Amino acid sequence: MQIVSTVAEVQKQVKEWKKAGLTIGFVPTMGYLHEGHASLMRCAREKCDKVVASIFVNPMQFGENEDLDSYPRDLDADAKLCEEIGVDLIFHPKAEEMYTDGFCSFVDMNGLTKELCGKSRPIHFRGVCTVVCKLFHIVTPDYAFFGQKDAQQLAVIRRMTTDLNMDIEIVGCPIVREADGLAKSSRNTYLNEEERRAALVLSRTIALGEKLVSEGVRDAGELISAMKANIEKEPLARIDYVEAVSMDTIEKVETIEKNVLVAMAVFIGKTRLIDNFIV
Ligand code: AMP
Repeated sequence: MQIVSTVAEVQKQVKEWKKAGLTIGFVPTMGYLHEGHASLMRCAREKCDKVVASIFVNPMQFGENEDLDSYPRDLDADAKLCEEIGVDLIFHPKAEEMYTDGFCSFVDMNGLTKELCGKSRPIHFRGVCTVVCKLFHIVTPDYAFFGQKDAQQLAVIRRMTTDLNMDIEIVGCPIVREADGLAKSSRNTYLNEEERRAALVLSRTIALGEKLVSEGVRDAGELISAMKANIEKEPLARIDYVEAVSMDTIEKVETIEKNVLVAMAVFIGKTRLIDNFIV
């Protein structure tokens, strides 16, 4: 497995692979890898001849008061996991490599980013789209793998590839959870023991939502109210949002039907966690 830090090194290797007629799968990440990331890489490993993973904590997608500086990093552990899975190349650039002097081009999206995380993190998806677009141009993958854990991000990336005619198949992969239900996240490391226990309110509320839908609840307002009431029982939790939106447009819906995304963001202490289910 190669670990490279420059765009030129990635492009050189990818050109050789393409010349040999090999397919390329790509898994973009911010590192501090866990089983959620690993599941995307395994999926890429099965589907493609060569697997590229990027590890880049992208400053452009963090707001001023967010956790860019404290975001956990551990390249050695990440490299070990990638090696075990059979990743062929890790791209681990510095911010200066991605955003050279004078950088001023962005990918902005007018739809799909008004609700959910786009509402509470106004510059987030501009940063995500810009960096993913750049990474797609650098790696030129045939397939790119994203987790449903970040369901709005998955919808945004699908839209971007369609709108900008990128010849890349976007593969969505299911949420990987801890044994007790908490969705795996690099940010779980911020939680102290008491917060870790309190964080279970997210997955418990997802389970409650799924149960209510399976029992026939179709009114989005009723569903959201029941889910919010359940979260409010946990004193350490503060709701950012609980919403039901169309999976394709990320616009609010009134009726729960097929292809509706029920998503939430909840602060546990200072840590903002997300979870969701798709009907
Ligand atoms: P991140 O490093 O948090 O930017 O995530 C990189 C990719 O891994 C994104 O496509 C995420 O959706 C995906 N991912 C993160 N956590 C999980 C999880 N628990 N299950 C599935 N995919 C995940």
